[in-house]
Amino acid sequence: MIATGTASGLGLAAARQFANEGASLVLVDRAEQSLRTVVAELSGTGANVVPVVGDVSRAATAQEAVRTALSQFGRLDVLFNNAGIDPLEATTLVETTEEVWDAIVNVNVKSAYLFAKEAIPAMISGGGGAIVNTASSAGMRASARAGAYGISKAATIALTRSLARDFTGQGIRTNAICPGFLEAIPSDRRATMSEEQKAARRVKAGELVPLGREGTYEEVAKSVLFLASSESSYTSGAALLIDGGWIA
Ligand code: NAD
Repeated sequence: MIATGTASGLGLAAARQFANEGASLVLVDRAEQSLRTVVAELSGTGANVVPVVGDVSRAATAQEAVRTALSQFGRLDVLFNNAGIDPLEATTLVETTEEVWDAIVNVNVKSAYLFAKEAIPAMISGGGGAIVNTASSAGMRASARAGAYGISKAATIALTRSLARDFTGQGIRTNAICPGFLEAIPSDRRATMSEEQKAARRVKAGELVPLGREGTYEEVAKSVLFLASSESSYTSGAALLIDGGWIA
């Protein structure tokens, strides 16, 4: 399988769970040092893991990942498109710069198109497969001053549905996960947030989410495994909300 954005956060939690299930993994991330640490950790448990360092919004990275999966493991049956970024500052669309818009749309949506484009022919040759795309509850309900991010995640849901319409008949199921408030903060924000800001986020989640808390990466990763496995054999084109009941 190929999984992107696996040097930290949700991608790392999912990579650990997939490795535990015996999957052979091509892990893709641009954070080279952290990715190599993850590969060493999983290899140490006996897992078959190969890193590909690169920017997921570039076609060359997707091509290298698929080439690596086929040359190392002989087949490709699962693709987890998970790498994503959030703008560092909350802005309305009027205040959003073209540079920020392009970065968010390219990393969050274009990457999933590029990886699916390379992976699907290989999956069809191997007799089928499953694609899981990380969207967000923000793709279903707009958050204030987060337009570019929400639009990129709504587009990820639309991309998921298009792939499901076009390729389910050829044995490739495509689904999206839509996490809400997660307890860990995306890696590029962690460094800049104070302990008070993190605590305020926890309090906000506690008030807004009917389950009364943020979700964990491990909880979300379990749904990724479900959608990637034959346990979800009749599910394709779904956008699975994993948000503790927040936006219901
Ligand atoms: P994270 O920052 O911990 O992990 C994202 C990973 O993607 C990092 O390892 C980063 O290096 C990598 N990455 C980013 N841009 C890349 C690029 N251009 N090329 C290659 N690798 C790149 O964040 P996370 O919380 O684990 O987020 C994972 C996914 O979950 C994202 O798509 C995010 O939008 C989504 N999501 C997160 C939350 C949340 O609350 N954390 C909620 C809903 C959805």
